[in-house]
Amino acid sequence: MDIIESPAAMHTWRRGRSGTVGLVPTMGYLHEGHLALARRSLAENDETVVSIFVNPTQFGPDEDLERYPRDEERDLRLLRELGVRAVYLPTPNAIYPPGFETYVEPGDTAAPLEGSARPGHFRGVLTVVLKLFNAVQPRRAYFGRKDAQQLRVIRRMTADLDLDIEIVPCPIVRESDGLAMSSRNVYLSQEERAAATVLGKALHEAADAFAAGERDAGALQKQIRARIEAEPLAHIEYVSVADDLSLDEIDGQIESRALASLAVRFGSTRLIDNVELG
Ligand code: AMP
Repeated sequence: MDIIESPAAMHTWRRGRSGTVGLVPTMGYLHEGHLALARRSLAENDETVVSIFVNPTQFGPDEDLERYPRDEERDLRLLRELGVRAVYLPTPNAIYPPGFETYVEPGDTAAPLEGSARPGHFRGVLTVVLKLFNAVQPRRAYFGRKDAQQLRVIRRMTADLDLDIEIVPCPIVRESDGLAMSSRNVYLSQEERAAATVLGKALHEAADAFAAGERDAGALQKQIRARIEAEPLAHIEYVSVADDLSLDEIDGQIESRALASLAVRFGSTRLIDNVELG
């Protein structure tokens, strides 16, 4: 397996490849959600590059950059077992050398939800994703629906900046009790881990209500909120029922498609989850 540690080394690797390349960007501490993206890329492309980079510019000053879980040895073993032959593992200094000053400025899609809760987050995400795209020059790039707003903001950037890259959205992978897989789940205490199943349940029940004909966005939002508020360890940051594309909050009836999404804290751990309605 090739381990590529800088943009320059990545360019050299890329020049030796003539077939299609799929890129799977991650922050490491891999779980089945990441591996599902990698499997899909392996099936659809001649070459697959998985990147592992805990991107400092997408973390706020009071967030968990320093304690973000890392296990490089295990990640590399899992990728090797999967058949991945190239891992892009740059250092922060290789991505942001001294003097770095150019960023991608996101637009309105990045304003609500995660963008509002985490100022500067999507500026960091878009900047690093564009840098990954430029280093790897993939034909396709694979992203999880778990980060629903991120997916939309990246699609916007790809269209707005004329990138010739297919953005491939992949389904959310969940634990058997419905908790969406996340590297951050390891922060949860046993009690918090048990309580966190309420998120999957609340969203699942909202999807059921929608399927049964409920179209009142406010009612669905209230239903999700009430379910989570009944769990004493859960502290809601936001619960949203928004237009599926623009992510504008829906006031009234859902006409076609909507995204129900939430951010909820359990102790110091912040979890996000969502379900697409329609
Ligand atoms: P992260 O390492 O958390 O930045 O995630 C890297 C990629 O994996 C992103 O595209 C995420 O949306 C995706 N991902 C993370 N968790 C899941 C999951 N449970 N199911 C599907 N995709 C996921």
